[in-house]
Amino acid sequence: MKSLLAEVKKGKILVSDGAWGTQLQKRGLQPGECPELWNSTHRAEVSAVAKGYIDADADMILTNSFGGSPSKLAHYGLQDRAAELNEKAAAISREAAGNNHFVLGSMGPTGVILMMGEVSETTVSEGFRIQAQALKKGGVDALCIETMSALDEACLAIRAAKESTGLEIVCTFTFEKTVQGEYRTMMGVSPAEMVPALKEAGADIIGANCGNGFDGMIDIVGEIRKIDQSTPVLIHANAGKPLMKEGKTVFPETPEMMASKVKKLIKSGANIIGGCCGTTPEHIRALAKEIRKT
Ligand SMILES: [Zn+2]
Repeated sequence: MKSLLAEVKKGKILVSDGAWGTQLQKRGLQPGECPELWNSTHRAEVSAVAKGYIDADADMILTNSFGGSPSKLAHYGLQDRAAELNEKAAAISREAAGNNHFVLGSMGPTGVILMMGEVSETTVSEGFRIQAQALKKGGVDALCIETMSALDEACLAIRAAKESTGLEIVCTFTFEKTVQGEYRTMMGVSPAEMVPALKEAGADIIGANCGNGFDGMIDIVGEIRKIDQSTPVLIHANAGKPLMKEGKTVFPETPEMMASKVKKLIKSGANIIGGCCGTTPEHIRALAKEIRKT
């Protein structure tokens, strides 16, 4: 088993992958379709997305399992196939990555708000456990719990994933800039509040994904580094702030624009850098080229 943490601790800046959802849509995924079901029905297309990022010189790729918790899959009546669909997601990325690249099993939020008490913590934990174990069985090197906004759910996910797999755990939150100019998640969590909570739950690598382009992420990494200088930080940034154009969401930053900011992001303290919404293999290629120079 390769250690992502050991690789980062050598002082290398690692390149992660870019968006999956939009890449699958390009290959025919329709609105309202379950992306994770494609691990079974459209294996070649999912594999092409994974290979696209390996070919773009990423050091690691994620898996097509962001919505793979049983409670998310229940929207499609697929909750009983959680283990199968997650294992397949991991196997597809593992095959595309070979043994010289890392595979991180993607785990997104369940969509359940724990504070509201609609579902018990035990049920949510059990769901994360099923997902984490299946991803491990499919061959991932580490798990990436991402797009989180609530501390209780994220910590539950970290503990469940770590206890049931023993794998290294990455956990990233999604922050938005408030009108006061502060960064907060949808549930009101600041980067400074996130750091100690995730570390205590057992996260090995922390960070932020989505919601912001590199400009916002540079600020967020700065806030993390103010209180923590040693925990590795992973950033998956959008291709800029989304704009509405003719009723469609567009991400304005080109690969060159993103690449021009990557040095500043490294300087702020990021260790692993990749893309989120709106990024493509071309964005990752441009980032990798710039990062390899440093
Ligand atoms: Zn995103």
